[in-house]
Amino acid sequence: MFLECIECKAEYSDTEIIYTCQRCGGLLDVIYDYSKIDLSFQKLNQPPSVWKYASLLPVKREPISIKEGGTPLYKCGRLAKQIGIHELYVKHEGLNPTGSFKDRGMTVGVSKALELGMKTVACASTGNTSASLAIYAAKAGISAVVLLPEGKVAMGKVAQALMHGAKVITIRGNFDDAFRLVRELCEQRDFYLLNSINPFRLEGQKTIGFEIIDQLGWKSPDRVVLPVGNAGNISAIYKGFSEFKGFDIIDEIPRMTGIQSEGACPIFNAFKRGDTKIVPEKNPETVASAIRIGDPVNAPKALRAIYDSKGTAEKVSDEEIIEAQKSLARLEGIGVEPASAASIAGLKKLVEKGVIQPDERVVCITTGHLLKDPEEVIGVCGKPIEVEADIDAIRAVISYEGSESLGVAPMMLQKVCKDR
Ligand SMILES: *Cc1c(COP(=O)(O)O)cnc(C)c1O
Ligand SMILES: [Zn+2]
Repeated sequence: MFLECIECKAEYSDTEIIYTCQRCGGLLDVIYDYSKIDLSFQKLNQPPSVWKYASLLPVKREPISIKEGGTPLYKCGRLAKQIGIHELYVKHEGLNPTGSFKDRGMTVGVSKALELGMKTVACASTGNTSASLAIYAAKAGISAVVLLPEGKVAMGKVAQALMHGAKVITIRGNFDDAFRLVRELCEQRDFYLLNSINPFRLEGQKTIGFEIIDQLGWKSPDRVVLPVGNAGNISAIYKGFSEFKGFDIIDEIPRMTGIQSEGACPIFNAFKRGDTKIVPEKNPETVASAIRIGDPVNAPKALRAIYDSKGTAEKVSDEEIIEAQKSLARLEGIGVEPASAASIAGLKKLVEKGVIQPDERVVCITTGHLLKDPEEVIGVCGKPIEVEADIDAIRAVISYEGSESLGVAPMMLQKVCKDR
């Protein structure tokens, strides 16, 4: 196994602590001796999980694991009907141990940090990376330092990072500022950087691709749709599919389809121009805080994934994201944070535009759990209505019609209830 620059193909040992090519600054990929990989996981009668595919992961020691991966792939008939396609699956990554797919990357990344002898791990984060890093560092018995952008990190995520004992620092700036600073910090100090620029972390995340194939009976879907922020996950999943294609486990790589938020869509813009380079967005803004990123570090890998798989990119508004979040919750019982719902909103838009055909077999990835961002939920659903402890007051609320939820019952009704 070794590291290879995706631009100039320079090679580095996997025991070196580097994150980008020292010759040209390009991103790095982990390359294996593919002729020596044990593929017997195909025959194992074992449920999917990150470490089921250990022969294709870059860790030699006993991994730091809290049982990540193995998330359900739900067949979503009601939502498919609403959107107008025949076969839709949702892979709910919100059901990982900390409530997001970041656990897949961190179980591998933190295990690698130990293998490399590192005592402190660090990241910049829109929230989920910090929660996941804190938990794996705790389990490994090492320190974690996380930098968060001021004011925009969902409550549930900060709570996790704090409770599991990370050193949590909020900076007066956005994610892109935090990322620049944490890179500098890791250069100066003996800290191991576990943002998605770290190629070992992405190796863990490629198991989403492996699991989809495994769960569909070793067959590939036509398309995979997912939200894109720093663009590591779409790159990782594409690498997973490419490896399975290299082994002839699948015939075709699914069309990789990346969805961004209108207020933070440099990859969508680059794709629209047919470009392989992005123009960073200076002031990214969206309700989907996990993808509020203006300068995605993995853009070159992500654009390659989209072009090479004949995929596409789309952008969606906050309103479309919130509507999709409600549809998923109310039609399928799948509770997700806003960024995750971008995948559904993007699918809907692309079906309406005729870019995605109704007979395609589509997998959407929902990246994080609803409970990560309870404040957003109250913001879009309203607070529950409060009445006196009185049966008539409750009856009055229940029989009120004309509102989709009791939470937005009108002032008049509230007054009626209070007056009683
Ligand atoms: C991290 C994250 C994303 C974005 O993934 P990238 O690899 O940065 O593109 C999307 N949704 C959720 C919930 C996340 O935590
Ligand atoms: Zn290079």
